[in-house]
Amino acid sequence: MLLKARYVLPISADIIVDGGVVVRDGAIADVGPFNVVRLRNPEEEVVDYGTAALMPGLVDVHTHLEYSVMRGFSPDLPYVRWVFEMLRQAAKMDPNDWYDSAILGGLEALSNGITCIGDITARKEMAKATSELGLRAVLYREVGAMDKRRVGYAMNQAARDIADWAELYASDLLHIGIAPAPVFLCHPLVYSKVAAFARDEGLPVAMRLAGSREEVNFVRYGSSPLAVDTMNDRGGYVELPPWLPTGASPIRYALNWGAFEADHVLVIHAIHIDEDDLRKMREYQVAVGVCPRCSAQLGMGVASIEELVRSGLAVGVGTDSPAAVDSIDVFRELAIGMLLQRATHSHEFTDAKMMLRLATEGGARALGLEDSIGTLDVGKRADIIAVDLSVAGQTPLLNIESTIVNTCTGNDVLMTMVDGAVLYEKSQWHVDVEVARNIVRIIEIRNKLRM
Ligand SMILES: [Zn+2]
Repeated sequence: MLLKARYVLPISADIIVDGGVVVRDGAIADVGPFNVVRLRNPEEEVVDYGTAALMPGLVDVHTHLEYSVMRGFSPDLPYVRWVFEMLRQAAKMDPNDWYDSAILGGLEALSNGITCIGDITARKEMAKATSELGLRAVLYREVGAMDKRRVGYAMNQAARDIADWAELYASDLLHIGIAPAPVFLCHPLVYSKVAAFARDEGLPVAMRLAGSREEVNFVRYGSSPLAVDTMNDRGGYVELPPWLPTGASPIRYALNWGAFEADHVLVIHAIHIDEDDLRKMREYQVAVGVCPRCSAQLGMGVASIEELVRSGLAVGVGTDSPAAVDSIDVFRELAIGMLLQRATHSHEFTDAKMMLRLATEGGARALGLEDSIGTLDVGKRADIIAVDLSVAGQTPLLNIESTIVNTCTGNDVLMTMVDGAVLYEKSQWHVDVEVARNIVRIIEIRNKLRM
């Protein structure tokens, strides 16, 4: 198949005007000016997307697709109150509900040009959903235990799940990792155990750190709503001794407990970090995932994207919980993320080209998949999207990168291809799930949760 469009954005090289990309056996076989590529591949069938951009599929480094059904339930709650409201809703969900909710999120991700996700979950339904949809994924099995006596048990459960998922849903598209629960739901011993397990098994690790002021105050001073709410019966930990302040930043705290001792660590958020934290992150070569829209929506803060990138860290973009943001849309993250950077870090003036790089190549590096995805280079897997640039609000087309970041949303995605398979095109999904049945189920679940 020879894909043709007015613009091809390889990300690893300059934009090609009137470009072509050949996809063969699930991989990218040729990229260049259409006329040249056509001559080299005369037998390939041409698919022309017109005034559009062909670019690498978007990598969403941090999400929780199984929470998609809870969209819009709590639009005006700040972070800590929102977290506990979500935990309350989650208690009403059964395994089938989690599966259908994950499918809902996966369908939306595909229609919005997302070809690869990094998802933190403790449920096999998430692995089932991504494998049925054909979405590329790194699923980080979450491990949480606030009670020290339960850490061993929680680790054993996680190890068993990881082995099960790998066996049940084995595929080149599915990668499994491990993730400690958020700081306020996680005994520090979990950090050392997770890192040691990941190193032994060769697994990537993801962890949420330094995401909110409340988390910083909880770790450092033991004094935030988190200290009250996780330690009472709402958090289910009434028998625990009181949380003791550590005097450390969240990054330092996790580091002190050996959290960064694994080979591939992805830190999600990294909003409230100081120079010492950044130095340590650089020393351990951790990757970072930023979620600009969700962090703004819940009042968590603004990560210093420029500073993280300039430190040489691999940085990717995540949409985070679909229960918080109103769409699983990386394009919206890029627009909001860029504007927030310019508003708060004007001396570093972030540009659209860098934002697009974060959503593709940066995301691939953050998930440890840069050898197979993230750019349109010959030999990489064919995770490719076509984005429409023909509508009135995008004319005249002068700077392609800024047009994409400033004017595109998921609605402009014409086609989404994962590993050479077209999974979404012309408003239709080509996946092994029944979309109509999923919609009926989502209405049922939402009615149940509202009660
Ligand atoms: Zn999250």
